[in-house]
Amino acid sequence: MDPNSTAETRIADLLDRQHTAFRAEGQPTAEQRRQRIQAVIDMLVAHHEDLVAAIDADFGGRPRGYSLMNDVLGSITTLKDARENLDAWMAPQDRAAFAPYDQLGAGAHVRYQPKGSVGIIGTWNAPLFTLLSPLAGVLAAGNRAVLKPSEVVPRTAALLAEIVTASLDPEVVAIVTGGPDVADALTSLPFDHLVFTGSTAVGKLVMANAAKNLVPVTLELGGKSPTIIGRSADLETAAFRIAVGKATNGGQICVSPDTAFVPRELLEAFIAAVQKAYAELLPTTEGNLDAVAVVNDRHVARVDGYIDDAIARGARVETAPTGPPPTTGRRRPLRLVVDPPADAAIRAEEIFGSAMVVLGYDELDDVIAEINASPRPLALYYFGTDAAEQAHVLDHTLSGGVTVNEVMMHPGLQDAPFGGVGASGMGHYNGREGFAEFSHTRAVFEAAAADPRREWGMLPPFHDGFEAQMAAQVTP
Ligand code: NAD
Repeated sequence: MDPNSTAETRIADLLDRQHTAFRAEGQPTAEQRRQRIQAVIDMLVAHHEDLVAAIDADFGGRPRGYSLMNDVLGSITTLKDARENLDAWMAPQDRAAFAPYDQLGAGAHVRYQPKGSVGIIGTWNAPLFTLLSPLAGVLAAGNRAVLKPSEVVPRTAALLAEIVTASLDPEVVAIVTGGPDVADALTSLPFDHLVFTGSTAVGKLVMANAAKNLVPVTLELGGKSPTIIGRSADLETAAFRIAVGKATNGGQICVSPDTAFVPRELLEAFIAAVQKAYAELLPTTEGNLDAVAVVNDRHVARVDGYIDDAIARGARVETAPTGPPPTTGRRRPLRLVVDPPADAAIRAEEIFGSAMVVLGYDELDDVIAEINASPRPLALYYFGTDAAEQAHVLDHTLSGGVTVNEVMMHPGLQDAPFGGVGASGMGHYNGREGFAEFSHTRAVFEAAAADPRREWGMLPPFHDGFEAQMAAQVTP
């Protein structure tokens, strides 16, 4: 590529090459798709150490074991699942033809065909996973892809670009790097599908760009995942599991528990239990190599700003571990913001960091009403052993997914779709549903040799009985 050409020209050139190759190839076989998925797995296996080192450097502290688990193994698991299952997913499905043609030998089926070339834009918080996990379904469905990593993790993005370019055929999987300008250029092009992971605000820009070319979108966005503690919950277990969730990636996860609703009489016990559990996991903040740092100063200022705003509005803030705030580095303790007023910024904005709102409640239906009055969340968590209450919560709310008596587990399901609803996104990846998302589900009708329509007076010139014949079939 000519380094002087604009981002849009360079990406348009890649897209053009992928489209040309796609048309020439026709539908790739299962074996070709497996080989393409395998090439991505092999790339990750060969370069995982360098990749997790780059992520560690970009974050200014992210345990390599965690990056292996979340980004490398998280991606490899989805890629392997697609590799193992794509034969079954690809199989055409017989469908019923309609009368009277079915009785005359007509047939029908649905076939899943690749759409073409898919643009995939990722985030910084899971810089490999948000690109390579959707790529699994995209390749399983027989598509090609252009990846765009987040500019917030520049070392990771540059290294990924280097190894993708060296390991993969750019006519199958290409990569471009850059910030919002490059992402804007990519989403302005006539891809056959776009997968965007990121914030709700930028998701709207992506969809507006995609609309100009009628490009379908999968939007994996964020939101304020509510966490309901029922009165039947085991408080210690709930607090421990929520603390583990908040300690993961420094709270910088799309499905991180954001707001905990706790029965008012249990509020103090819950806060103490979360503090205790969190301090056992991460007893210190500054220099604790098990703690994931906030990715950059802008995000430190953003989350610290929510805390300062809540304090200024009279909210109480408890920390875990307790003690004076860190004076250096970007690691932060967990801040529990207790009952902040409705106009506090932290009540409206996705926290995406080391803090959680804790709200006391009296009636569960008030909690459900508050959740339903807010943008639809990506995840919802319910803790409790009361089956009727659990069913009531699930039946009266909507979220991308749900984990019961735990947090952040449902995104790990390979055999179930992962995605949002409403403000938390649209579409999904993983499993059969992810494969279908990146396929065109094409209906095929195969006519029978015999055509009785003239014999039955159904073609012009219509005989007198035709209208009566039709009218007789208008039945309740
Ligand atoms: P972001 O929206 O700031 O950036 C995401 C990507 O969008 C980056 O690659 C960026 O370059 C690109 N971008 C920026 N401007 C653009 C534009 N005008 N057009 C197109 N693309 C543009 O998000 P972020 O800070 O990287 O990630 C945090 C957000 O992502 C949170 O809201 C979080 O909940 C969400 N998230 C969602 C999931 C999920 O699976 N649903 C996973 C991870 C993160």
